Amino acid sequence: MKKTGKGDYHAVSLSGGKDSTAMLLMMIEKGMPVDGVFWADTGMEFPEMYRHIGKVDAYLFRERGLHIHVLRHPRGFEWLMFDEPKQKKSAVERRIRDGVPLCGNGWPGIRVRWCTGQLKTHLITKEVNRLKGECNAVSYVGIAHDEQERCKGERYPLVEWQVTEEQALRYCYGKGFDWGGLYEIYHRCSCWCCPFQRIDELRKLRKHHPELWGRMLEMDARALGQFGETPLGMFRKGWTVGALDERFEAEEQGRKFCRHRKKEPGAEEPALLFCTETGILGADAANQESEGFL
Ligand code: SF4
Repeated sequence: MKKTGKGDYHAVSLSGGKDSTAMLLMMIEKGMPVDGVFWADTGMEFPEMYRHIGKVDAYLFRERGLHIHVLRHPRGFEWLMFDEPKQKKSAVERRIRDGVPLCGNGWPGIRVRWCTGQLKTHLITKEVNRLKGECNAVSYVGIAHDEQERCKGERYPLVEWQVTEEQALRYCYGKGFDWGGLYEIYHRCSCWCCPFQRIDELRKLRKHHPELWGRMLEMDARALGQFGETPLGMFRKGWTVGALDERFEAEEQGRKFCRHRKKEPGAEEPALLFCTETGILGADAANQESEGFL
């Protein structure tokens, strides 16, 4: 690893999105030291994002003679989702009690967002902390000025320069980095299979990236087969990817789409959870509406 004369190591965390990309490009343009650029690949990035990272890497090499350090979990997203064996005694006991298989974490959920830590933040934090310990590293994170409440003790050049998200995107476009048009379609460009996306992003995914939507349907079927309609097997509370697929299909065809809660033993009629004609019904739907999912 290359070090600067002062003994500091200038480490840039690249998410691949507009803010961290703008930060890196601006640091290069301003002649600031850059010793290492770190990007965590979840394996579930858009194809356009992989091409973007390749383009940034070529630019970085041309300007500074460096390549991006790509960090990856040794087994990846789907292994963690379906195959990681549970080892902690309490987790094993809970799963046995609840009748849930002993392997796999299922879809990431609000309460157990296993993916961000294992596939992104832990990988980068571990590397940056090692560099801080070994060579007094300074870490640069791409948070825009209008999101500065997320800052936590690293260097945030975009905040220092008062660069907003919108300005960051325009700057990247001006430098010829356009993500193959991803930001013209989506609001966010991280994992395409993220269960925390807004409903409209999923609708657009189905339309603009049908091959990725097809992979989501395969993951959905596997999750339901392995975990059933538990929080681990459901893509979002009350929704499978299959149910969303039916809903989007109905919307496209101008048809009414109704989704019912599974019939409880002894109940006369299953409760109506969602209907495109009558609007939103049911407590689950109210929760999801407040999360921006409906
Ligand atoms: S984008 Fe979504 S799926 Fe990907 S790591 Fe973040 S929370 Fe998890």
